[in-house]
Amino acid sequence: MHNNKFKTMAVAAAALMSVLLTSCSNQVQQTEKSRTAGEISQTSSGVSSEPTTQTSSGSSAEPTTAKPLDLVEDLSKYDLKDGDSLEQIVSKMESKYGIDIVYGNDIRTEFKDENETLRAKPNTNDNEIAAALKDIDEGLNALPKGFIKQLPYGKHKILKMYLTGPITIDGVDGGGVPAFTSDSDEELYLTIEVLEQGVVNVPTVLHELTHIIDFKLHYDGIINEDDWSKLNPEGFTYDNSYGDSLAGKKDPKYCYTTDHYVGHNTDNSNDDIWFYYCYSKVNAYEDRATMLENLVIYRIWNYEVAEGLYKCPHMKAKMEYYLKLIEKDFVMNASDRDAWADAFRKIS
Ligand SMILES: [Zn+2]
Repeated sequence: MHNNKFKTMAVAAAALMSVLLTSCSNQVQQTEKSRTAGEISQTSSGVSSEPTTQTSSGSSAEPTTAKPLDLVEDLSKYDLKDGDSLEQIVSKMESKYGIDIVYGNDIRTEFKDENETLRAKPNTNDNEIAAALKDIDEGLNALPKGFIKQLPYGKHKILKMYLTGPITIDGVDGGGVPAFTSDSDEELYLTIEVLEQGVVNVPTVLHELTHIIDFKLHYDGIINEDDWSKLNPEGFTYDNSYGDSLAGKKDPKYCYTTDHYVGHNTDNSNDDIWFYYCYSKVNAYEDRATMLENLVIYRIWNYEVAEGLYKCPHMKAKMEYYLKLIEKDFVMNASDRDAWADAFRKIS
């Protein structure tokens, strides 16, 4: 369905970092790493050229089927409460978001495509899984009602959320892949690494969800990359180079900042800013996912991680355009749509 294959992931160590790996069949395989202020994340590289094998294994003890979309339903019965058992948390979130949550020894441990193989180890600590789910719920809760239920596209009927232990990439030293998704698998999945004490990188989870939004926008024919590129500087093309980002080599030209979670640290004036951070210049998927991070964080925690980002006119125009595409493809309550529009208005 798509010419490009995207495998996305991000890193959360103690702080927030992200790594994303993408592969295009006609391009040299490269990888990327980005860092937060003062933090260094590990390198990802190396990819096999083996043919894609669709492997599908592991399912929760009680798989759920997505329910029909109901935007009137009172979801407060699914609110998580102190004292909820892990089973209760899972059950509530599966019902609320129409997803299939898989954890413990039931997880899928291999994610393979023609370019690389990722492996996940189980996390069998129920307390950590429960803590992670509560944080993930807080993030997903900021999205419009019924939004997650609408993400599956084409052959995909449900979004699987795998909560795993350490994730590694074959041929790559170190770990630190906090979450990833792919558009070239039999399953539509979002795999999330749960660290000690149940730490998860919620902004990265939302970043990965943005990639899934894009998969759907593409599948539904809502987004046209040629039109999108017109919102970028004249003559600009994405470099498709994750490697440059990893090495911190990307030119901060047109960027608000060099990395996420860092304030405006380039010399670029607001009128000359078209991208959030250097990583956004890898490809359009990263551009949109990084761009949405600031708004998502504002919606979840009510502060801007990149203060004034959308006051830059080109950023504002891109975001407005993207939000319109999302509105076109997703059904949502007027109140939810207004809440997002209001949030965006306040910070743009
Ligand atoms: Zn990404």
